[in-house]
Amino acid sequence: MIIRYERNGKVKHGWMVEEDNKVRVIEGDIYKIQSAKPIMTGLELPLDEIVLKAPSAPSKVVCIGINYRDHAAEMDIDLPEEPLMFLKPSTTVVGPGEPIVYPKLTQNLHYEGELAVVIKKEAKQVKAEDAEDYILGFTCAIDVTARDLQMSDGQWTRAKGFDTFCPLGPAIAAKLDYQNLRIVTKVNGEVRQDANTSQMIFTIPQLVEAVSAVMTLLPGDVILTGTPSGVGELRPGDEVSVTIEGIGTLATHVVQAEE
Ligand code: MG
Repeated sequence: MIIRYERNGKVKHGWMVEEDNKVRVIEGDIYKIQSAKPIMTGLELPLDEIVLKAPSAPSKVVCIGINYRDHAAEMDIDLPEEPLMFLKPSTTVVGPGEPIVYPKLTQNLHYEGELAVVIKKEAKQVKAEDAEDYILGFTCAIDVTARDLQMSDGQWTRAKGFDTFCPLGPAIAAKLDYQNLRIVTKVNGEVRQDANTSQMIFTIPQLVEAVSAVMTLLPGDVILTGTPSGVGELRPGDEVSVTIEGIGTLATHVVQAEE
């Protein structure tokens, strides 16, 4: 699985070999945006010598609003006829273990565990049947939401856009049966969401088609594919995690914004 990590002040990509607690160093650009082809070096690092970062540094995070039937029901929203899109700024992205900061402007912060798609190469007006060619892989995400601002504002820029509102990670898994993955969200060890990506209203290839019909997706960009039912509140001090079959667990915690 692909990770991004920091060591001695430098951020690089690596290949994580979970079984032996090691990371193989990748030199060059995994997206081949520059000329440097990615090279798997022979170099290996123990996991405890690196700091995991979000596995991608997207130019934008495109989110799908209602993509599980049971979540539409719990929010009392009609099923969408086409994917409902909104954006999170790139500054929402944080890596595994980096805390979610509880803003002073909200009194009702919610988690939404989601499967995230990481884009491999520039994608513009891609057809669903070609979508897999444009996908690097999949990771776990939390679409952190200030539910009170979402309801009061009428649109979602503030509610979804605070810094730290998009934890991503821990790694990007490529070869997955992505439309059949168990996704579990826990708060303080207690299961709050337990669903399967087979319950999505729009499939991932359909989402890539719909989003890329509007905006060009760049290498590293991320699509959050919607959350299942069971969304709920987070308080400062809470531990929250999202586990997706075949990818791993993204775990973080909530801290109060400083005065
Ligand atoms: Mg969401």
